[in-house]
Amino acid sequence: MDEIKLLKAKLAREQKARQKLEAFLENQTRELYLAKEKAEAASTAKSQFLANMSHEIRTPMNGIVGMISLLLGTPLTEEQQEYAKIVQTSGDSLLDIINNILDYSKIEAGKLELETIEFDLRLAMESLGDLIALNAHKKGLEVILNIENNVPSLLVGDPGRLRQILINLASNATKFTQTGEIVIRVSHDHEDTTHATIRFSVLDTGIGIPTERMGAIFESFSQVDSSTTRKYGGTGLGLSISRQLSEMMGGQIGVNSREGKGSDFWFTAVFKKQSKVQATKVVVDAINGKRLLIVDNNANNRSVLKEPLCLWKCICDEASDGIQALNMLKQAVVEHTPFDIAFLDMQIPGMDVKTLGQAIKADPHLKNTKLILMTSIGNRGDAKLFREMGFTAYLTKPVKQSQLYDCLTTISGIQKESEKSMGGIITRHSLVEEQKKRIKILLAEDNAINQKVAMLTLGKLGYRVEIVSNGRQALDALEKNCYDLVLMDCQMPEMDGFAATREIRKLKSKNRYIPVIAMTAHAMKGYMNKCIEAGMNDYLSKPVKPQALLNMLEKWIKTKPAEPSS
Ligand code: ADP
Repeated sequence: MDEIKLLKAKLAREQKARQKLEAFLENQTRELYLAKEKAEAASTAKSQFLANMSHEIRTPMNGIVGMISLLLGTPLTEEQQEYAKIVQTSGDSLLDIINNILDYSKIEAGKLELETIEFDLRLAMESLGDLIALNAHKKGLEVILNIENNVPSLLVGDPGRLRQILINLASNATKFTQTGEIVIRVSHDHEDTTHATIRFSVLDTGIGIPTERMGAIFESFSQVDSSTTRKYGGTGLGLSISRQLSEMMGGQIGVNSREGKGSDFWFTAVFKKQSKVQATKVVVDAINGKRLLIVDNNANNRSVLKEPLCLWKCICDEASDGIQALNMLKQAVVEHTPFDIAFLDMQIPGMDVKTLGQAIKADPHLKNTKLILMTSIGNRGDAKLFREMGFTAYLTKPVKQSQLYDCLTTISGIQKESEKSMGGIITRHSLVEEQKKRIKILLAEDNAINQKVAMLTLGKLGYRVEIVSNGRQALDALEKNCYDLVLMDCQMPEMDGFAATREIRKLKSKNRYIPVIAMTAHAMKGYMNKCIEAGMNDYLSKPVKPQALLNMLEKWIKTKPAEPSS
């Protein structure tokens, strides 16, 4: 009996203890849940705050950066020019810092997500090459862009973040190099049926990095020289962000360097391959089998030019100086295989390019060889001089494959015409300028300052533009007139950019297929996807730099989506 009593008492005690434990656990769970809710709310508030800050800072920065570059294009006294340039460089570095800090906090908070959109790697790299060359040429550095032929072009991934890594590496290369060249090499690392791993490397001939510091520079806020009297500015965040981004892209980052000789910063990234691979450009008979001579003392430059030319089935020979070039041209005539076209670099040893050009044109056996001048410094004024000397075209390095192709087919197609009547020299400007005259752009933007910045910038770039203040007005305009491209602010009163684009894609007219480019001060995660989902084609983040705008317009006006045949 006692035993039963004892057992009952024990059970009762145990039940009480269990109830107590359950109550305790319930309480703990509730507290944990509340804490989690609180943390999530704080995290959402933080990213919302970041998004708002980013938007709020970028809007006035658009006014500053845009207006100052317009101001610099007007006649100014030397003193005014100097002050304006200081405002410009300060604006640019402020923007870099803001971008870096925002990115850094996003990565820290685990809030940075990569976009997954279809893009053309070659187009992306070529417009990036222009941007890098712009700054490098100011320091007298040569920029060579080398995309190997077997690298797939049509990929799916985050081209914006890829560009960011490359800009970080290339800006460092420019910053830490006084003389020589910057080579950007894109090569094929690995590929299977669905994915491709691409290797990018940025090589410079700059100050290099001591071996013992090579590991540390990829850490946040880490610089080789951390003294307060450092010669070069910077936040020490660029490489750390680049490392995180390349890792997020399934790749790795690293550096090989020799102090005083230069550095090779490389990274890999994995991209999905686009499933519907479009037909590759048909090689027209006009350039297939052409005999070409590349005259340049820089072997890298020669091979970069040679790769696409070989792909288009041209027959290429190389010469590293003027005398060798002249001998080769003469020998080819003797062998009854004269060169059709010669690419002459602006700076060749042995004989200056003008003397070489004149010698070719003065020789009755050689004068039929078309001459293309390759120059690092785009200077419109030079075109007249070289035309007078008998050059057919001139191209600015780094040369885009598409421009090289257009130039060669134009030369081959209009050969006779140009000799007889046109008398014009084909430059990268004239190829693009021709198109621009026919282009009409619609800009939807509510902010008066931004309207002015965009209108003046587009005007300066040579485009015609019409402005409306909201999405509703944009739709009205598109119902009445024909345009070639729409630049669309996202946040606007009455009807925002997303709603307007959705409506555009339902239009009955031709404008239904018009390229719509978002222009927004929001640079936060997922925004690009949001734009694409609404039916926009691409995305420009404010403040919009004239060069970035120009690249975007060239990209979309060239690859304007075709209308379905039905
Ligand atoms: P920042 O350039 O803003 O200081 P980064 O993270 O981009 O920050 O670079 C960190 C450091 O790595 C630089 O301060 C510099 O000391 C070194 N570094 C980066 N790139 C190069 C380069 N191409 N040549 C020499 N040193 C470099």
